[in-house]
Amino acid sequence: MSIRIGIVGCAGRMGQMLMTEVLNGESVSLSGGTERAGGPAAGKDIGELLGRGALGLAIGTDARALFQISDAVIDFTAPAATVAHAGLAAELGKALIVGTTGLKAEHETVLREAATNTAVVYAPNFSVGVNLLISLVEKVSAILDPSYDIEIVEMHHRHKVDAPSGTALGLGRAAAAGRQVALNDVAVRQRDGIVGPRKSGEIGFATLRGGDVVGDHTVMFAAEGERIELTHKAQSRAVFSKGAVRAARWAVGRQPGLYTMFDVLGLKA
Ligand code: NAD
Repeated sequence: MSIRIGIVGCAGRMGQMLMTEVLNGESVSLSGGTERAGGPAAGKDIGELLGRGALGLAIGTDARALFQISDAVIDFTAPAATVAHAGLAAELGKALIVGTTGLKAEHETVLREAATNTAVVYAPNFSVGVNLLISLVEKVSAILDPSYDIEIVEMHHRHKVDAPSGTALGLGRAAAAGRQVALNDVAVRQRDGIVGPRKSGEIGFATLRGGDVVGDHTVMFAAEGERIELTHKAQSRAVFSKGAVRAARWAVGRQPGLYTMFDVLGLKA
């Protein structure tokens, strides 16, 4: 039986990758895609948007109608849109896969509420490799004592609007969890000017932006005399869309709950 997957924000960079992944995937079918009302993509044929010939499926603007005809909906849009989509998923009992980053605590509260009614998979990064990296970072950080300074460096393309990346923050949370501290208590998200010497136990972040870099993340554990660096480089956005479609397959029919890619991949923290 084929799972019907809808893509909100379907004309975006990730939206197009996601639709291609669903159209090429086995035992999944594309129920449709939506975009912002009044946006340039609304009403266009999805196949033509993807450069693969007309499919007879127009890009809609009615998210409710898309949720109604879908088993799962994948959302890589923007925080305000994701909050509205979470409400629809909860009301209509449809699985929701959220890749949107830059969500604030109040947005995450809405996701948690929606997850009491339906399965929600929320991950700052859907690539299998990054999730493995997150798991490794927590383990390494639990083994190394605080004399190892933890610094997280990330680079993304010039269009990215939030910083540090959701993945970098996820890596920071994993490093903090390994040390049994809260990230908010130890994070240093930027340094500028005479900031003084580094405090022991800090977890630092550095953000680079430029070109078309899909997503590079390095976690450094720097001590006197040695440095361990764990790096992941995404070379194609397809790694995110493949992971998100895998999550959609996994989530359909699942008990309500807020899940992560660790649940989907069976990775234990
Ligand atoms: P993008 O700007 O190219 O695409 C976002 C799309 O969402 C746009 O087409 C926009 O018109 C649409 N949109 C906004 N509001 C909408 C609404 N209310 N209804 C329908 N569509 C709406 O951005 P992108 O590069 O595709 O990234 C989108 C999000 O996904 C960002 O938050 C990005 O950081 C995140 N992202 C996450 C992962 C991951 O693995 N979790 C990977 C890559 C990108």
